[in-house]
Amino acid sequence: MSRHYGWRADGTVIDAEAAQIRRIAQWIADGGTIAALIRDLNTDHVPTATGGTWSRASITRTLRRPRMIGDDHYAPILDRPLWDKVMAVLTDPARQRFVSKDTPRPSVAAGILRCSVCASTMFRAGRDWACDNRDCPARPHVRVDPVEVEISERVLTRITSEAWLAELRRAVDRGRDHYLWMRDTAADRMQALAEAFGAGGTERAALDAGLAAARGVIAEADHGLAFLDAAGSLADLSDAQVVEWWADAPVTARHDVVKAVVDRIDVTPPAAGRGVADRLVWHWR
Ligand SMILES: [Zn+2]
Repeated sequence: MSRHYGWRADGTVIDAEAAQIRRIAQWIADGGTIAALIRDLNTDHVPTATGGTWSRASITRTLRRPRMIGDDHYAPILDRPLWDKVMAVLTDPARQRFVSKDTPRPSVAAGILRCSVCASTMFRAGRDWACDNRDCPARPHVRVDPVEVEISERVLTRITSEAWLAELRRAVDRGRDHYLWMRDTAADRMQALAEAFGAGGTERAALDAGLAAARGVIAEADHGLAFLDAAGSLADLSDAQVVEWWADAPVTARHDVVKAVVDRIDVTPPAAGRGVADRLVWHWR
């Protein structure tokens, strides 16, 4: 079962995790950046409750839990004055909106959009996403802002659906170990196939088919791991809370979720009577 970082399911504190939480809270209260914190946590190989790596979403989700200061079931980890200070920083709009003048505003669509004509990944060109392949006969452009709105609406509809949340909870329950086991098993299978082929026991076609199947399993496991890292922290939320999370989450965290659920979106060239929504062809994972 999923549990919250810092506590066992019975509500007692896990000392090592509580110490990490206090360190994280103090860092943020003192004005440290979350980006630097994420680097430190992941460099030190501090695992999350699901065994994954830390993200902006998992840090803010962890710290925002009201039970940080204790409730009927959970022993407190932070004292009230420190928690209040952390909340003030995390909900400060000036901090959330801060981006360097030199970098374009980050977008949830980064790396997701492909030109439908030549299959190139589209690049940011001012207020547009554009195909910048010189050999592409169409080189379509599309405005950044309406694409952003469309992606937010479609992805939010998906991740608040009962089916999606149920799938997420199943993935969290299986845990990272399940996907790591899938990877190991597939790698062993590839080794065994290669050895059998080397010993003259199998046909080339059988070897190729077996290797392709094993690679498919590894890709599925990698997707499961990425899915847990990006969205695992949403597993204990209701659909309404997911909507709240989306409204508050930094663009990097929303982008991670978009990448976990969308393989790519093809952008078709403009045509009469077709709005931005009509020009996007969705490929869900
Ligand atoms: Zn193109």
